[in-house]
Amino acid sequence: MSEAPAGSRCDACGTPRGATAFVFQTREGTIVKCGRCALRHRPMLRRSLAVAVVVGTLLLIINQGDVLLSAEWPRALVWKIPLTYLVPFLVATWGALVNSRLRRSGRSVAS
Ligand SMILES: [Zn+2]
Repeated sequence: MSEAPAGSRCDACGTPRGATAFVFQTREGTIVKCGRCALRHRPMLRRSLAVAVVVGTLLLIINQGDVLLSAEWPRALVWKIPLTYLVPFLVATWGALVNSRLRRSGRSVAS
């Protein structure tokens, strides 16, 4: 087996990045991560969580506001409320990953 050339390893775990890599800007500078480490990139997850709280709450008010103000809450809210927050979280995370993805040439897709 051949060794991966320098610079083609994940800056977080050190394993070869494979075909897909993700670039993130941090206080320490630019880092490149493999897909597994990119999914666990804490600043991205914090941003996605903030988006989910704001957008999810607005969607919940718009879509279920009248139901929430009623005397009885239907059982369907048990799955509707988590989904209302999950969807903006996933969309924000997906958008961040797509924008930070590296092309094979080493350039970011977004730039
Ligand atoms: Zn990694």
